[in-house]
Amino acid sequence: MNIALLRAQQIPVNTVPRASVPFHMLIKPIGAGCNLACNYCYYPQRDQAQKMDEALLESFIRQYIASQPRYSREINFVWQGGEPLLAGIGFYKKALALQQKYAPPGVLISNSLQTNATLLNPAWCRLFKQHQFIVGVSLDGDRQIQDTHRPDKRGNSSYDAALRGIALLQQYQIEFNLLVVVHDGVADRAQEMYDHFVALGVRYLQFQPLMLEGDAPAAGYGLSAANWGRFMVAIYRRWRSQGHLGQVFIMNIEHVYAQYFTHVSPNCVHSARCGGNLVMEPDGSVYACDHLIDAKHRLGRFDDASQFAGYVDAAIEMDFGKTKSLRRECQSCSVKSVCQGGCPAHIGKDRYNRLCAGYYAFFSEVLAPLRSFARTAQGATLWRSSVISATS
Ligand code: SF4
Ligand code: SF4
Repeated sequence: MNIALLRAQQIPVNTVPRASVPFHMLIKPIGAGCNLACNYCYYPQRDQAQKMDEALLESFIRQYIASQPRYSREINFVWQGGEPLLAGIGFYKKALALQQKYAPPGVLISNSLQTNATLLNPAWCRLFKQHQFIVGVSLDGDRQIQDTHRPDKRGNSSYDAALRGIALLQQYQIEFNLLVVVHDGVADRAQEMYDHFVALGVRYLQFQPLMLEGDAPAAGYGLSAANWGRFMVAIYRRWRSQGHLGQVFIMNIEHVYAQYFTHVSPNCVHSARCGGNLVMEPDGSVYACDHLIDAKHRLGRFDDASQFAGYVDAAIEMDFGKTKSLRRECQSCSVKSVCQGGCPAHIGKDRYNRLCAGYYAFFSEVLAPLRSFARTAQGATLWRSSVISATS
């Protein structure tokens, strides 16, 4: 018997169990480490920088890839902080090499990274360009807004450094998405903020309602439902009145269009269920969501013997993700098709979503011109034609 030949003919067996659904993992290579000190930081362990060690990184990349369902054609790595650039460029070069080492044939590996942009330099931009990173930049507004709410550790301005980073991304032709935190303090400044971002040459924008974990409440930050609605409606109206459809992409609006016609939300907040967005801290601690960092939602500590499939199964069965769209007030709501109850992290002890009235105002406004079109691919085609003929 030719043992060597038999071995060579064996079909390799995947010894890592696969998750039942595709899942995302937010990776925190430097934990809460950050060079800024935003007043409303949501990170509960703020200032505890810890770098992920390379043995854990390799284990993680191997298992994350191997745990995805067999039909997955793209596997996305999402790097976040704190400020993830503090992990150093060598860390990401190592991660990219490991991704190639473990990538199965025919599967696209992609990378997204969320940064405050203040530490970007040409070397980072070359790396991001070469590996087609999708970059998210956190910027809150003009100099006054940014420096009031997002100062550096010494209380100094971060605006010029952030703008230098944005200019570099533009110079290297790296598409980036601007992430803007909305709170009561900026609720009546939607129009000027929008105009400022457009003047900077930004094409992709996303507005994020303030999260209430971490430092925000103690620092006096809040966001009422009325203010969230007022702000987003003002953004929508400004975008429409400027004729920016097809030129400036506001994710909050684009996702409504997508969800209306496809019945599938591109984001977790407005999906009927959530739980497939795990997060891993640099020590390997895995939680069911970045906004539910507590003992109840801790899934375990990842090591070489851990299995992501088990974590994912446990997370999608947790109450927060299963019940988010089932609350009584949502069942008869006229915008449920694109709201689905919102994020469980915004649901208070009374079981109501504290942004509900804001969502209702915004979604009602965006849906109004869509309602006469069927929620089908054909409906989407007809709607697109009507928009094109109205603008030409
Ligand atoms: S809890 Fe909120 S942020 Fe977390 S996965 Fe669900 S919708 Fe997304
Ligand atoms: S707007 Fe309020 S009631 Fe309607 S689906 Fe959203 S959270 Fe539920």
